[in-house]
Amino acid sequence: MGSGSHSDDAHPGGDIGAGPAGLLLSRLLQLQGIDTVVLENRSREYVEARIRAGILEEHTVQTLVDAGVGDRLQREGLPHDGIYLQYPGVRHHLDFPDLCGRRVWVYGQTEVTRDLITAQLDDGPPLLFGVSDVSPEDVDGDAPRIRFTDADGNPQVLECDAIAGTDGFHGVSRPVVTAGTPGRLWERTYPYAWLGILADVAPSSEELVYAWHPDGFALLSMRSPAVSRLYVQVDPTEKIADWPDERIWEALGTRLGVDGGALQAGPVTEKSILPMRSFVSAPMRRGRLFLAGDAAHIVPPTGAKGLNLAVADVTLLADALVRLLKKHQTDLVDSYSDRALARVWRCTHFSWWMTSMLHRSGDDFDAELQLSQLRRVCRSEAAARELAENYTGLPIDR
Ligand SMILES: Cc1cc2nc3c(=O)[nH]c(=O)nc-3n(C[C@H](O)[C@H](O)[C@H](O)COP(=O)(O)OP(=O)(O)OC[C@H]3O[C@@H](n4cnc5c(N)ncnc54)[C@H](O)[C@@H]3O)c2cc1C
Repeated sequence: MGSGSHSDDAHPGGDIGAGPAGLLLSRLLQLQGIDTVVLENRSREYVEARIRAGILEEHTVQTLVDAGVGDRLQREGLPHDGIYLQYPGVRHHLDFPDLCGRRVWVYGQTEVTRDLITAQLDDGPPLLFGVSDVSPEDVDGDAPRIRFTDADGNPQVLECDAIAGTDGFHGVSRPVVTAGTPGRLWERTYPYAWLGILADVAPSSEELVYAWHPDGFALLSMRSPAVSRLYVQVDPTEKIADWPDERIWEALGTRLGVDGGALQAGPVTEKSILPMRSFVSAPMRRGRLFLAGDAAHIVPPTGAKGLNLAVADVTLLADALVRLLKKHQTDLVDSYSDRALARVWRCTHFSWWMTSMLHRSGDDFDAELQLSQLRRVCRSEAAARELAENYTGLPIDR
C-alpha cells in the first residue's frame, strides 16, 4: 500500500502502493482537499512499464474522467460495443449496448498508471518511489503511522489520519489486517494459466474474441489499432522458454482461426505466464487501515475485473474517508468493507463463471457442459444480457 493523507486539522493520509488503486485514491482525496502521501517500493520506470489489464468498464472511465485524468483516455482509448464468443464452427457477437445499454473501453492499465502518475507529480501530493521497509503501525487508534525507509536510505515516519493498503497481493498491509481482526480468507487456484503476449500487429478482429477450443482457451485482445494482446491457456507448470514465438502463433492460429479469418502474426514485444487464482480476504479494514484492490482480492483475468474492482473499491473508500476526515462521521468507513465485499463477490462469481465456461480441463463430460453453456449464452437473450451486464460493470452501490 502506499498512500497517506491528512485533513485540515490533522495529519495526511498515507497510501501504500502506487498501483491504480493507490494513485486513484490519492487523486480522489486530493480533489476533496485531503492531503495524501503515496509510498511505492518500486521505481517509477518499473511501475510504468508493467503490462497488465486493458479493459475498462464505463464506471471506471467515468471515474477517471471526473478525476481529471481522462483526457488521453478519451483521445486514445478504443470504445468497444461487444465481444465475440467462439467455439468450433461458431463465432457469435454479443452486442453490449443492445443487451444492456453500456460498453467497455480498451486502454492499457500501463496508460492509466502513467496518466495518474503524471497528474500526481505535476500538481498532486507527494508520491515517493523506491521506498523500503514499509510498515503500518498503531492502526487500531485514531493516529496510525507508517514507518519506512526513503529512497536515500533515511528512516522516516508518516503520521496519518488513515492508511490505505493499496499494495497489491504481495504487499505488507493485508497481513496487518488479518493479524488483528477476526476474518476469513477464501482461495481457489485454477489448474491452468495464461501465456500472454503483446505483438506489434494490427488486431485480427475489431472486437475481443473469447475462444473455447479442444486444445484450450485463447483470447484475442488489443491495446491499440497497431498492437495486439493475445493469450493462450497453458499448464501452470509451463516455462516461457519452452514457448518460442512460432509455437505461440501456431497455438493461437489453431484456437482462434475461423473460416475466412486468418490470424495475423507480428513481432512479439512482451511475453509472460499469468497464474489463475480467485482470492478474497475479509474484512477489508482494521481500525484506520483500509484495504483496496488486489491487496484484498484477486480474480482470474477472464472477466476483465481486477483493475475495475480496484477502481470500485477506491470510489467507495474515497467517499468514506472524506466523510470521516472532513465531517468526523464514521458510518461510511464502518460499512466500507461489507459494501466493497458485496461487489467483490459478484465479480468473483462472474470471473469464475467465465473462466470455468471457457477453459479446457476435466474430461469430455465437462467439455459438453461448457459447450452447452456457450450455446445457451449465444442463443438466449436473457443469458447474453447477464454476461453483458456483468462484463460492462454493474453500478457501484455508493
Ligand atoms: C502479473 C499480473 C498480470 C495481470 N494481467 C491482467 C490481465 O491481463 N487482465 C486483467 O483484467 N487483469 C490483469 N491483472 C489484474 C490487474 O492488473 C490488477 O487487478 C490491478 O493491478 C489491481 O490494482 P492495485 O492497485 O490494487 O494493485 P497493483 O497494481 O498490484 O499495485 C500495487 C502497488 O503496490 C506496490 N507495493 C507492493 N508492496 C509494497 C510495499 N511493501 N510498499 C510499497 N509499495 C508496495 C507495488 O509495487 C504496486 O505498484 C494482472 C495482475 C498481475 C499481478
